[in-house]
Amino acid sequence: MTVKISHTPEVQQFFEEAAGLHNDNGSPRLKRIVQRVLQDAARLIEDLEISEDEFWHAVDYLNRLGGRGEAGLLVAGLGLEHFLDLLQDAKDAQAGLGGGTPRTIEGPLYVAGAPITEGEARMDDGSEEGVATVMFLEGQVFGPQGQPLAGATVDLWHANTRGTYSFFDQSQSAYNLRRRIVTDAQGRYRARSIVPSGYGCDPQGPTQECLDLLGRHGQRPAHIHFFISAPGYRHLTTQINLAGDRYLWDDFAYATREGLVGEVVLRDDGQGRVAELTFDFQLQQAQDSEAEQRSARPRALQQD
Ligand code: FE
Repeated sequence: MTVKISHTPEVQQFFEEAAGLHNDNGSPRLKRIVQRVLQDAARLIEDLEISEDEFWHAVDYLNRLGGRGEAGLLVAGLGLEHFLDLLQDAKDAQAGLGGGTPRTIEGPLYVAGAPITEGEARMDDGSEEGVATVMFLEGQVFGPQGQPLAGATVDLWHANTRGTYSFFDQSQSAYNLRRRIVTDAQGRYRARSIVPSGYGCDPQGPTQECLDLLGRHGQRPAHIHFFISAPGYRHLTTQINLAGDRYLWDDFAYATREGLVGEVVLRDDGQGRVAELTFDFQLQQAQDSEAEQRSARPRALQQD
């Protein structure tokens, strides 16, 4: 018979003490969260009869996960980041908020402070010329009534042909494939870049180690990340995932959603094959000034 003690007053009080609930210092909010984590962890250990070996393997795993900076990757791979989107969608539905371009996960690879330009930008540094397919990306940003939004900021970032991102891949130049484009009077943005490649988790990393044990791959389809913002409108975090990619609907991070699939059209411009992608965005009205801002999640900062 399974032995259980986590429900007893002695153990409950012990975890209250460990969570700092018997003192007046610290953060009441964090105390509540830690108490819950301790209680739930204890129940899980009892219910699933977690062995000591399993427990200490998990502790070692957390050390290695943090050591490799992959915690943000694991929460995407386990679907927790997508769950936050589903939860926000449900809250929006209950509040009667809807419409516009769907949100989807940010992922862990944004870097703040990309170069900012009016109307258009070239995003790539030319280092993959001859290898990469040139991509012309453009579209408009609209408000809830379909009116073009001039002066909106389109902050976009994507991987190179090897599926890696500048800053995290130190072999790339600073801010390669990262730009902020302010929309023109017609709400239009235009970028010249290169077609990104999909990518996977590091095969030697702790995230893939976990996915292997779950019998899952760690691959993402080719995609382009966006923050879209404009004064008075709700901040949008989203992505375009590229049609035709074998992982489009088999994304390990669950970021692909209806309404977020981009069709790349290839044409010959006389000097070679180029890709064209048109994608428009529609923002919701902001309910308050906080809604105009992206989340305050800790992010990487480029060191110049
Ligand atoms: Fe990405």
